[in-house]
Amino acid sequence: PARPALHGAAPGLAPVVDRVPTRDKVVFLTYDDGAERDPRFVDMVRELRLPVSMFLTDSVVGPGYGHFAQLRTVGASVQNHTLHHASLRGLPYAGQRAEICGQQEKLKARFGVRPRLFRPPYGTYDTTTLHAAADCGVAAVVLGREPDAHRLRPGDILSGFEEPNLTEATVRLLRRIQAEGFTPARLENYL
Ligand SMILES: [Zn+2]
Repeated sequence: PARPALHGAAPGLAPVVDRVPTRDKVVFLTYDDGAERDPRFVDMVRELRLPVSMFLTDSVVGPGYGHFAQLRTVGASVQNHTLHHASLRGLPYAGQRAEICGQQEKLKARFGVRPRLFRPPYGTYDTTTLHAAADCGVAAVVLGREPDAHRLRPGDILSGFEEPNLTEATVRLLRRIQAEGFTPARLENYL
């Protein structure tokens, strides 16, 4: 699909996306931090050709980048979630820039690709974040929402459902997505 234009961003600021503007009955599966590295998740992504986006924090992944290299091989995308999982809102520009650009560079060094998407830890950000993100080459600041009780909507960016185990939580969520007539789609095709 063609990427829809992102509205609402001022010049020099990365746009904030909390839901993809689409009428397609699609939702997006996103995962944060990189703490859990379950080989069964790699198998599942491969077998189901599941489009998933992993927002990684360097200090959480630590020496575990090999797992995410495997996930990329089977089709996952790797995106930016800062170097140290800092709460960015209120921090000076230099500090925010270091957290965002630093992880852009780490991921570029690891995987050969500079991420296009960034998710701020705890979902907190300010205008300085959007300025720093744009300066670090981020195309969009992507928030997410937990798939709670109310029905899924087209373009929902789902996150925070990994408990207690991301593989089982994903299997459960996929049943619900299917039951409500939706399909998981690749976030990077829409943003
Ligand atoms: Zn996080």
